[in-house]
Amino acid sequence: MLLEEQGANVDLYEARQRVGGRVHTVRDAHGLGYEAGGEWIDADHSRVLGILKRFGIPVVATPNKPYTLSVAGSRIAETQLWPEAKADMDRLDAEARRLAEGLKDPVWSNRDRTDLDERNLAEFMGSIATSDHSRWWLRANLRSDEGEDPERIGLLGWLGGYRNYLNRTDGEASAFRVDGGLRLLIQALSRATKAQPQFDRLLQGIRTLNDGVELQFSGATAKADKVLLTLPPPCLAKVDFDPALEVGAYRAFRQCGMTRTVKIVWQFKRAWWVDEGMTGFLMSDAPFQQVWPAHVGDAPSLVAYVNGDDADALRKGTPESALKLLAAQFPAVEAEYERGWIHDWVRDPYAGGGFAYAPPGYVLGGKAWLSRAQYRIHFAGEHTAKWNGFLEGALESAERVVWEILGQ
Ligand SMILES: Cc1cc2nc3c(=O)[nH]c(=O)nc-3n(C[C@H](O)[C@H](O)[C@H](O)COP(=O)(O)OP(=O)(O)OC[C@H]3O[C@@H](n4cnc5c(N)ncnc54)[C@H](O)[C@@H]3O)c2cc1C
Repeated sequence: MLLEEQGANVDLYEARQRVGGRVHTVRDAHGLGYEAGGEWIDADHSRVLGILKRFGIPVVATPNKPYTLSVAGSRIAETQLWPEAKADMDRLDAEARRLAEGLKDPVWSNRDRTDLDERNLAEFMGSIATSDHSRWWLRANLRSDEGEDPERIGLLGWLGGYRNYLNRTDGEASAFRVDGGLRLLIQALSRATKAQPQFDRLLQGIRTLNDGVELQFSGATAKADKVLLTLPPPCLAKVDFDPALEVGAYRAFRQCGMTRTVKIVWQFKRAWWVDEGMTGFLMSDAPFQQVWPAHVGDAPSLVAYVNGDDADALRKGTPESALKLLAAQFPAVEAEYERGWIHDWVRDPYAGGGFAYAPPGYVLGGKAWLSRAQYRIHFAGEHTAKWNGFLEGALESAERVVWEILGQ
């Protein structure tokens, strides 16, 4: 849309039979729906809020706090959080702030911080937590935010993301959603774009010629002056580039972390959680991790957002086997249950996981290549942005790449 607004002639190719990618509001014939992918909008995601406003799509403020915590068989409100867990989270924030404020932009220019790049987030948390409760609380929060087990997340990459939060006040995270689903945004974007997507176009190769590029799809080719790729890194790794890209790019595509992220949706006969005093998120030590009431459609339902090893285990089961874990904490749920779904992004061939993260060593070892144009090939997508992992990052990258393409 931004390219067209600047006068460019754009063709749009998509491997799936729908647009939206990792924004995917699933709806059935009865109108029940849920966000299988991106859902929450933080209060400082100004690009997302701006584009929704431009299209007249209202956001609703969500009462996500206080969390209900369910740990080691007991349930408490976040307001009753163990004092040492709160104190340790404050210390973690203070230390993260100190380190993040000392970093240069972009994050990969901090060549003297191999110490941070080689550490993982779990070690950092471990150096701060002073009790089992605190260890659980730090892990539960950061694992959900990062979408992966903290052992897999490099500290420098995490601190790069933390810099986005330096001016944040409490309550800005997950502040809004779109009633009716983010499909409304995708529909509005489609209407605002002249180019009509050509579906079932799985990009397999790109040949750069003297005067343009040839795109090779299964069973078809197309020519263009330049190409913009917004494929997630695992999908980029499967494209055959002729001539070959610089070797650093291949390494960056292959080694970029993609979160193991799964959503499980359970539909119930009634919203039983209201009787249990659960108004916002449930944060639990059961493998389903984080649960919240779903919002699209009328049927009462809960969404579980699961990451890391737990996601790997649950995605191989059924919604009913996952429900048993919830029933261990809320025995009444099985009687209220109607049906459920598991949305597995790890197995999705056009995503390869939930969203990008930097494993230990990755920021200084290759991250810069993700956004570096080569020949007539440009790169965008959340993995190339400072706000990586978010819709905001996808839009941020769009703004960067439009000027990169038109400026050359
Ligand atoms: C479960 C989950 C929960 C999330 N929650 C949130 C949230 O609450 N808030 C938030 O801000 N963000 C959230 N995100 C992240 C957010 O959804 C993504 O950051 C964003 O949608 C990524 O957009 P993108 O354009 O970079 O990539 P994508 O949306 O993945 O777009 C890439 C496109 O490339 C296509 N493609 C792939 N391979 C090929 C090929 N070979 N040929 C042709 N086309 C191809 C894909 O089909 C896709 O349409 C979540 C993501 C997941 C998975």
